[in-house]
Amino acid sequence: MLTVNAYAAPSATEPLVKTTIERRDLGPNDVLIEIAYSGICHSDIHTVRGDWGPQQYPLTVGHEIVGTVTEVGSDVTLHQVGDRVGVGCMVNSCRECENCLAGQQQYCLKGNTGTYASVDRDGTITQGGYSTHVVVVEDFVLRVPESIPFEKAAPLLCAGITTYSPLSHWNAGPGKRVAVVGLGGLGHMAVKIAHAMGAEVTVLSQTLSKKDDGLKLGADHYYATKDEATFRDLKNSFDLIINTVSAVIDLDAYLSLLALDGTMVNVGAPGQALPLHVFTLFGNRRSFAGSGIGSIGETQEMLDFCAEHGIAPETELISADYINEAYERVLNSDVRYRFVIDASTFA
Ligand code: NAP
Ligand code: ZN
Ligand code: ZN
Repeated sequence: MLTVNAYAAPSATEPLVKTTIERRDLGPNDVLIEIAYSGICHSDIHTVRGDWGPQQYPLTVGHEIVGTVTEVGSDVTLHQVGDRVGVGCMVNSCRECENCLAGQQQYCLKGNTGTYASVDRDGTITQGGYSTHVVVVEDFVLRVPESIPFEKAAPLLCAGITTYSPLSHWNAGPGKRVAVVGLGGLGHMAVKIAHAMGAEVTVLSQTLSKKDDGLKLGADHYYATKDEATFRDLKNSFDLIINTVSAVIDLDAYLSLLALDGTMVNVGAPGQALPLHVFTLFGNRRSFAGSGIGSIGETQEMLDFCAEHGIAPETELISADYINEAYERVLNSDVRYRFVIDASTFA
Protein backbone atom coordinates (compact mmCIF):
# COMPACT_ATOMS: atom_id res chain seq x y z
CA MET A 1 0.00 0.00 0.00
CA LEU A 2 1.06 3.53 -0.75
CA THR A 3 -0.01 6.26 1.67
CA VAL A 4 -0.51 9.55 -0.19
CA ASN A 5 -1.58 13.08 0.66
CA ALA A 6 -5.13 14.05 -0.23
CA TYR A 7 -8.09 16.26 0.62
CA ALA A 8 -11.25 14.56 1.84
CA ALA A 9 -14.75 15.41 3.01
CA PRO A 10 -15.22 14.12 6.61
CA SER A 11 -19.02 14.20 6.16
CA ALA A 12 -21.73 15.65 3.93
CA THR A 13 -21.81 18.91 5.86
CA GLU A 14 -18.18 19.65 6.81
CA PRO A 15 -15.53 21.35 4.69
CA LEU A 16 -12.89 19.23 2.96
CA VAL A 17 -9.69 18.78 4.98
CA LYS A 18 -6.14 17.66 4.36
CA THR A 19 -5.57 13.98 5.05
CA THR A 20 -3.86 10.85 3.75
CA ILE A 21 -5.40 7.96 1.80
CA GLU A 22 -4.16 4.53 0.70
CA ARG A 23 -3.49 3.51 -2.89
CA ARG A 24 -3.28 -0.18 -3.72
CA ASP A 25 0.00 -1.89 -4.59
CA LEU A 26 0.63 -1.91 -8.30
CA GLY A 27 -0.92 -4.97 -9.99
CA PRO A 28 0.49 -6.32 -13.26
CA ASN A 29 -1.88 -4.15 -15.35
CA ASP A 30 -1.78 -1.03 -13.18
CA VAL A 31 0.01 2.26 -13.65
CA LEU A 32 1.01 4.62 -10.86
CA ILE A 33 0.34 8.26 -11.76
CA GLU A 34 1.81 11.25 -10.00
CA ILE A 35 -1.08 13.70 -10.26
CA ALA A 36 -0.21 17.16 -11.58
CA TYR A 37 -3.65 18.79 -11.77
CA SER A 38 -7.13 17.89 -10.64
CA GLY A 39 -10.30 19.66 -11.83
CA ILE A 40 -13.35 20.46 -9.69
CA CYS A 41 -16.56 19.13 -11.26
CA HIS A 42 -19.99 20.02 -9.90
CA SER A 43 -20.49 16.25 -9.52
CA ASP A 44 -17.80 16.31 -6.81
CA ILE A 45 -19.99 18.72 -4.86
CA HIS A 46 -23.23 16.78 -5.49
CA THR A 47 -21.46 13.64 -4.27
CA VAL A 48 -19.76 14.90 -1.10
CA ARG A 49 -22.90 16.77 -0.04
CA GLY A 50 -25.09 13.69 -0.49
CA ASP A 51 -27.29 15.16 -3.26
CA TRP A 52 -27.28 11.80 -5.03
CA GLY A 53 -27.63 9.65 -1.91
CA PRO A 54 -25.62 8.77 1.19
CA GLN A 55 -21.86 8.21 0.93
CA GLN A 56 -19.12 6.59 3.01
CA TYR A 57 -16.81 9.16 4.62
CA PRO A 58 -14.11 10.31 4.69
CA LEU A 59 -14.35 10.64 0.92
CA THR A 60 -11.83 12.02 -1.55
CA VAL A 61 -13.48 13.12 -4.80
CA GLY A 62 -12.06 14.41 -8.10
CA HIS A 63 -12.43 12.79 -11.53
CA GLU A 64 -10.64 15.21 -13.81
CA ILE A 65 -7.07 14.05 -13.38
CA VAL A 66 -3.87 14.61 -15.36
CA GLY A 67 -0.42 13.53 -14.33
CA THR A 68 2.73 11.65 -15.20
CA VAL A 69 3.25 7.90 -15.12
CA THR A 70 5.91 7.11 -12.50
CA GLU A 71 5.69 3.30 -12.39
CA VAL A 72 4.07 0.55 -14.47
CA GLY A 73 3.03 -3.02 -13.61
CA SER A 74 4.85 -5.97 -15.19
CA ASP A 75 2.25 -6.56 -17.95
CA VAL A 76 1.55 -2.92 -18.90
CA THR A 77 1.96 -2.18 -22.60
CA LEU A 78 -0.14 0.97 -23.18
CA HIS A 79 1.84 3.46 -21.07
CA GLN A 80 5.42 4.11 -20.06
CA VAL A 81 7.13 5.91 -17.21
CA GLY A 82 7.18 9.62 -18.06
CA ASP A 83 3.98 9.62 -20.17
CA ARG A 84 1.49 12.51 -19.82
CA VAL A 85 -1.79 10.80 -18.99
CA GLY A 86 -5.32 11.46 -17.82
CA VAL A 87 -8.00 9.69 -15.80
CA GLY A 88 -11.67 10.62 -15.98
CA CYS A 89 -14.86 9.53 -14.25
CA MET A 90 -14.38 5.76 -14.33
CA VAL A 91 -11.48 3.46 -13.51
CA ASN A 92 -12.88 0.06 -14.48
CA SER A 93 -15.90 -1.87 -15.72
CA CYS A 94 -16.95 -5.54 -15.90
CA ARG A 95 -15.45 -5.99 -19.40
CA GLU A 96 -17.91 -8.75 -20.32
CA CYS A 97 -21.45 -7.33 -20.49
CA GLU A 98 -23.07 -6.37 -23.78
CA ASN A 99 -22.26 -2.68 -23.34
CA CYS A 100 -18.64 -3.24 -22.28
CA LEU A 101 -18.16 -5.54 -25.28
CA ALA A 102 -19.60 -2.76 -27.46
CA GLY A 103 -16.88 -0.46 -26.09
CA GLN A 104 -19.39 1.59 -24.05
CA GLN A 105 -17.84 1.00 -20.62
CA GLN A 106 -19.62 4.03 -19.14
CA TYR A 107 -22.87 2.10 -19.59
CA CYS A 108 -21.53 -1.15 -18.09
CA LEU A 109 -24.58 -3.19 -17.12
CA LYS A 110 -22.97 -4.08 -13.79
CA GLY A 111 -22.15 -0.40 -13.23
CA ASN A 112 -18.81 1.10 -14.18
CA THR A 113 -16.36 1.62 -11.33
CA GLY A 114 -16.44 5.35 -10.67
CA THR A 115 -13.16 7.11 -9.94
CA TYR A 116 -14.53 7.93 -6.49
CA ALA A 117 -17.33 6.84 -4.16
CA SER A 118 -17.72 3.56 -6.04
CA VAL A 119 -17.20 0.00 -4.82
CA ASP A 120 -13.96 -1.11 -6.44
CA ARG A 121 -13.47 -4.63 -7.81
CA ASP A 122 -11.55 -5.42 -4.56
CA GLY A 123 -14.46 -4.24 -2.39
CA THR A 124 -12.89 -0.97 -1.20
CA ILE A 125 -14.45 2.44 -1.92
CA THR A 126 -12.62 4.27 -4.70
CA GLN A 127 -10.98 7.58 -3.78
CA GLY A 128 -10.59 10.30 -6.39
CA GLY A 129 -8.13 12.77 -7.75
CA TYR A 130 -7.80 15.38 -4.99
CA SER A 131 -4.52 13.68 -4.05
CA THR A 132 -0.92 13.38 -5.14
CA HIS A 133 -1.01 9.90 -6.69
CA VAL A 134 -3.49 7.39 -8.09
CA VAL A 135 -3.22 3.76 -9.24
CA VAL A 136 -5.38 2.87 -12.26
CA VAL A 137 -5.61 -0.13 -14.56
CA GLU A 138 -3.84 0.76 -17.81
CA ASP A 139 -6.77 0.65 -20.24
CA PHE A 140 -8.73 3.25 -18.26
CA VAL A 141 -5.81 5.69 -18.56
CA LEU A 142 -5.84 8.19 -21.46
CA ARG A 143 -2.99 9.81 -23.37
CA VAL A 144 -2.95 13.61 -23.07
CA PRO A 145 -1.59 15.15 -26.30
CA GLU A 146 1.53 17.33 -25.84
CA SER A 147 -0.09 20.36 -27.44
CA ILE A 148 -2.77 20.70 -24.74
CA PRO A 149 -1.37 22.83 -21.88
CA PHE A 150 -1.10 20.44 -18.95
CA GLU A 151 -2.50 22.87 -16.36
CA LYS A 152 -5.65 23.24 -18.50
CA ALA A 153 -6.10 19.64 -19.64
CA ALA A 154 -7.72 18.08 -16.55
CA PRO A 155 -11.31 19.33 -17.15
CA LEU A 156 -11.37 17.59 -20.51
CA LEU A 157 -11.52 14.26 -18.65
CA CYS A 158 -15.07 14.99 -17.45
CA ALA A 159 -16.44 18.32 -18.72
CA GLY A 160 -14.84 17.70 -22.12
CA ILE A 161 -16.02 14.15 -22.70
CA THR A 162 -19.47 14.65 -21.16
CA THR A 163 -20.26 17.33 -23.73
CA TYR A 164 -18.28 15.88 -26.66
CA SER A 165 -20.15 12.56 -26.44
CA PRO A 166 -23.72 13.85 -26.96
CA LEU A 167 -22.57 16.49 -29.47
CA SER A 168 -20.91 13.75 -31.48
CA HIS A 169 -23.73 11.20 -31.02
CA TRP A 170 -26.46 13.67 -32.10
CA ASN A 171 -24.32 14.93 -35.00
CA ALA A 172 -23.58 18.53 -34.08
CA GLY A 173 -21.99 20.01 -37.17
CA PRO A 174 -22.55 22.38 -40.08
CA GLY A 175 -26.22 23.28 -40.52
CA LYS A 176 -27.14 22.18 -36.96
CA ARG A 177 -28.51 24.73 -34.53
CA VAL A 178 -27.21 23.78 -31.09
CA ALA A 179 -28.18 25.45 -27.83
CA VAL A 180 -26.14 25.05 -24.65
CA VAL A 181 -28.02 25.67 -21.39
CA GLY A 182 -25.79 26.87 -18.52
CA LEU A 183 -22.35 28.36 -19.07
CA GLY A 184 -20.34 26.62 -16.36
CA GLY A 185 -17.68 23.92 -16.58
CA LEU A 186 -19.59 21.61 -18.91
CA GLY A 187 -21.39 24.41 -20.73
CA HIS A 188 -18.27 26.31 -21.75
CA MET A 189 -16.73 23.10 -23.13
CA ALA A 190 -19.95 22.34 -25.01
CA VAL A 191 -19.74 25.77 -26.66
CA LYS A 192 -16.10 25.31 -27.69
CA ILE A 193 -16.60 21.78 -28.99
CA ALA A 194 -19.90 22.44 -30.82
CA HIS A 195 -18.32 25.49 -32.46
CA ALA A 196 -15.28 23.45 -33.52
CA MET A 197 -17.64 20.81 -34.97
CA GLY A 198 -19.12 23.55 -37.17
CA ALA A 199 -22.53 23.95 -35.52
CA GLU A 200 -24.35 27.26 -35.02
CA VAL A 201 -24.13 27.70 -31.25
CA THR A 202 -26.47 29.57 -28.91
CA VAL A 203 -25.87 29.98 -25.17
CA LEU A 204 -28.89 30.06 -22.88
CA SER A 205 -27.60 31.43 -19.58
CA GLN A 206 -29.55 32.80 -16.65
CA THR A 207 -28.37 36.36 -17.35
CA LEU A 208 -26.29 38.23 -19.92
CA SER A 209 -23.40 38.69 -17.45
CA LYS A 210 -21.14 36.23 -19.31
CA LYS A 211 -22.23 37.23 -22.84
CA ASP A 212 -18.84 38.59 -23.95
CA ASP A 213 -17.12 35.44 -22.71
CA GLY A 214 -19.68 33.20 -24.40
CA LEU A 215 -19.20 34.87 -27.77
CA LYS A 216 -15.40 34.63 -27.38
CA LEU A 217 -15.70 30.93 -26.56
CA GLY A 218 -17.36 30.41 -29.94
CA ALA A 219 -21.08 31.05 -29.46
CA ASP A 220 -22.93 32.78 -32.31
CA HIS A 221 -25.82 33.93 -30.11
CA TYR A 222 -26.42 34.47 -26.41
CA TYR A 223 -29.71 34.84 -24.53
CA ALA A 224 -30.78 35.30 -20.92
CA THR A 225 -33.27 32.72 -19.69
CA LYS A 226 -34.49 35.10 -16.97
CA ASP A 227 -35.90 37.17 -19.84
CA GLU A 228 -39.26 35.65 -20.82
CA ALA A 229 -38.97 37.05 -24.34
CA THR A 230 -36.15 34.52 -24.91
CA PHE A 231 -38.62 31.62 -24.78
CA ARG A 232 -41.01 33.38 -27.17
CA ASP A 233 -38.34 34.46 -29.64
CA LEU A 234 -36.53 31.12 -29.80
CA LYS A 235 -39.58 28.81 -29.99
CA ASN A 236 -39.07 25.88 -32.46
CA SER A 237 -35.55 26.97 -33.38
CA PHE A 238 -32.96 24.36 -32.26
CA ASP A 239 -32.01 20.93 -33.55
CA LEU A 240 -30.13 20.00 -30.40
CA ILE A 241 -30.15 21.39 -26.87
CA ILE A 242 -27.51 20.30 -24.35
CA ASN A 243 -28.71 21.01 -20.81
CA THR A 244 -25.78 21.27 -18.41
CA VAL A 245 -27.68 22.86 -15.52
CA SER A 246 -26.98 21.35 -12.09
CA ALA A 247 -30.43 22.34 -10.77
CA VAL A 248 -34.06 21.64 -11.69
CA ILE A 249 -35.25 23.71 -14.64
CA ASP A 250 -38.60 24.01 -16.41
CA LEU A 251 -38.09 21.29 -19.03
CA ASP A 252 -41.23 22.14 -20.99
CA ALA A 253 -40.05 25.69 -21.52
CA TYR A 254 -36.73 24.50 -22.96
CA LEU A 255 -38.22 21.60 -24.95
CA SER A 256 -40.54 24.05 -26.69
CA LEU A 257 -37.43 25.60 -28.23
CA LEU A 258 -36.75 22.42 -30.26
CA ALA A 259 -37.54 22.39 -33.98
CA LEU A 260 -38.97 19.38 -35.86
CA ASP A 261 -37.27 16.15 -34.72
CA GLY A 262 -35.05 18.09 -32.35
CA THR A 263 -33.50 16.49 -29.26
CA MET A 264 -32.78 17.90 -25.85
CA VAL A 265 -30.03 15.99 -24.05
CA ASN A 266 -29.74 16.30 -20.29
CA VAL A 267 -26.25 16.01 -18.89
CA GLY A 268 -26.96 18.18 -15.84
CA ALA A 269 -27.62 15.92 -12.87
CA PRO A 270 -29.72 17.48 -10.10
CA GLY A 271 -30.69 15.06 -7.34
CA GLN A 272 -34.41 15.74 -7.79
CA ALA A 273 -36.73 14.50 -10.54
CA LEU A 274 -37.40 16.82 -13.48
CA PRO A 275 -41.13 17.05 -14.28
CA LEU A 276 -42.11 17.03 -17.92
CA HIS A 277 -45.41 17.35 -19.81
CA VAL A 278 -45.50 14.78 -22.64
CA PHE A 279 -47.56 17.07 -24.86
CA THR A 280 -44.45 19.19 -25.24
CA LEU A 281 -42.79 16.16 -26.86
CA PHE A 282 -45.71 15.56 -29.26
CA GLY A 283 -45.16 18.97 -30.85
CA ASN A 284 -42.39 18.78 -33.47
CA ARG A 285 -41.87 15.05 -32.61
CA ARG A 286 -39.34 16.16 -30.00
CA SER A 287 -37.04 13.85 -28.04
CA PHE A 288 -35.74 14.15 -24.52
CA ALA A 289 -32.57 12.19 -23.82
CA GLY A 290 -29.77 11.78 -21.34
CA SER A 291 -26.07 11.07 -21.71
CA GLY A 292 -23.45 9.91 -19.22
CA ILE A 293 -19.76 10.83 -19.68
CA GLY A 294 -18.33 8.88 -22.65
CA SER A 295 -16.45 5.68 -23.41
CA ILE A 296 -12.70 5.30 -23.01
CA GLY A 297 -12.30 5.19 -26.81
CA GLU A 298 -14.41 8.30 -27.24
CA THR A 299 -12.50 10.10 -24.47
CA GLN A 300 -9.25 9.52 -26.37
CA GLU A 301 -10.99 10.70 -29.56
CA MET A 302 -12.12 13.88 -27.72
CA LEU A 303 -8.60 14.58 -26.41
CA ASP A 304 -7.19 14.19 -29.92
CA PHE A 305 -10.01 16.37 -31.34
CA CYS A 306 -9.24 19.12 -28.80
CA ALA A 307 -5.53 18.93 -29.64
CA GLU A 308 -6.27 19.13 -33.36
CA HIS A 309 -8.60 22.11 -32.93
CA GLY A 310 -6.51 23.92 -30.31
CA ILE A 311 -9.26 23.62 -27.71
CA ALA A 312 -8.52 23.83 -24.00
CA PRO A 313 -10.77 24.64 -21.04
CA GLU A 314 -10.78 28.12 -19.45
CA THR A 315 -9.41 27.48 -15.99
CA GLU A 316 -8.62 29.15 -12.68
CA LEU A 317 -5.66 27.46 -11.01
CA ILE A 318 -6.02 27.14 -7.24
CA SER A 319 -4.20 25.51 -4.35
CA ALA A 320 -5.81 22.80 -2.26
CA ASP A 321 -6.59 25.11 0.65
CA TYR A 322 -8.97 27.04 -1.64
CA ILE A 323 -11.20 24.02 -2.49
CA ASN A 324 -13.98 24.88 -0.03
CA GLU A 325 -14.18 28.46 -1.28
CA ALA A 326 -14.14 27.19 -4.86
CA TYR A 327 -17.11 24.93 -4.05
CA GLU A 328 -19.10 27.95 -2.85
CA ARG A 329 -18.23 29.83 -6.01
CA VAL A 330 -19.30 26.91 -8.22
CA LEU A 331 -22.61 26.73 -6.31
CA ASN A 332 -23.09 30.46 -6.94
CA SER A 333 -22.41 30.08 -10.71
CA ASP A 334 -19.27 32.14 -10.08
CA VAL A 335 -16.81 29.93 -11.95
CA ARG A 336 -14.84 31.07 -15.02
CA TYR A 337 -15.05 28.30 -16.13
CA ARG A 338 -13.38 25.46 -14.26
CA PHE A 339 -11.32 25.36 -11.07
CA VAL A 340 -8.18 23.28 -11.37
CA ILE A 341 -6.18 22.31 -8.28
CA ASP A 342 -2.38 22.29 -8.43
CA ALA A 343 -1.78 18.79 -7.03
CA SER A 344 1.59 19.77 -5.56
CA THR A 345 -0.42 21.68 -2.94
CA PHE A 346 -1.99 18.47 -1.60
CA ALA A 347 1.42 17.59 -0.13
P1 NAP B 1 -21.25 24.23 -13.11
O1 NAP B 1 -19.89 24.60 -13.52
O2 NAP B 1 -21.75 24.63 -11.77
O3 NAP B 1 -22.25 24.75 -14.26
C1 NAP B 1 -23.64 24.64 -14.15
C2 NAP B 1 -24.26 25.90 -14.75
O4 NAP B 1 -25.67 25.75 -14.69
C3 NAP B 1 -23.98 27.18 -13.99
O5 NAP B 1 -22.77 27.77 -14.36
C4 NAP B 1 -25.16 28.04 -14.39
O6 NAP B 1 -24.94 28.62 -15.67
C5 NAP B 1 -26.28 27.04 -14.55
N1 NAP B 1 -27.14 27.00 -13.36
C6 NAP B 1 -26.77 26.70 -12.09
N2 NAP B 1 -27.84 26.75 -11.27
C7 NAP B 1 -28.89 27.09 -12.02
C8 NAP B 1 -30.28 27.29 -11.78
N3 NAP B 1 -30.79 27.16 -10.54
N4 NAP B 1 -31.08 27.60 -12.82
C9 NAP B 1 -30.58 27.72 -14.06
N5 NAP B 1 -29.28 27.56 -14.35
C10 NAP B 1 -28.46 27.24 -13.36
O7 NAP B 1 -21.42 22.64 -13.12
P2 NAP B 1 -20.73 21.56 -14.10
O8 NAP B 1 -19.52 21.02 -13.44
O9 NAP B 1 -20.68 22.10 -15.46
O10 NAP B 1 -21.82 20.39 -14.02
C11 NAP B 1 -23.14 20.64 -14.46
C12 NAP B 1 -24.03 19.45 -14.12
O11 NAP B 1 -23.65 18.34 -14.93
C13 NAP B 1 -23.91 18.97 -12.68
O12 NAP B 1 -25.21 18.60 -12.24
C14 NAP B 1 -23.01 17.76 -12.79
O13 NAP B 1 -23.20 16.83 -11.74
C15 NAP B 1 -23.49 17.19 -14.10
N6 NAP B 1 -22.54 16.28 -14.75
C16 NAP B 1 -23.09 15.24 -15.44
C17 NAP B 1 -22.26 14.38 -16.13
C18 NAP B 1 -22.84 13.28 -16.93
O14 NAP B 1 -22.15 12.30 -17.22
N7 NAP B 1 -24.08 13.40 -17.37
C19 NAP B 1 -20.87 14.56 -16.09
C20 NAP B 1 -20.37 15.67 -15.41
C21 NAP B 1 -21.21 16.53 -14.74
P3 NAP B 1 -25.35 30.15 -16.02
O15 NAP B 1 -24.70 30.97 -14.96
O16 NAP B 1 -24.77 30.34 -17.37
O17 NAP B 1 -26.84 30.21 -16.01
ZN1 ZN C 1 -17.54 15.38 -13.58
ZN1 ZN D 1 -19.84 -4.26 -18.27
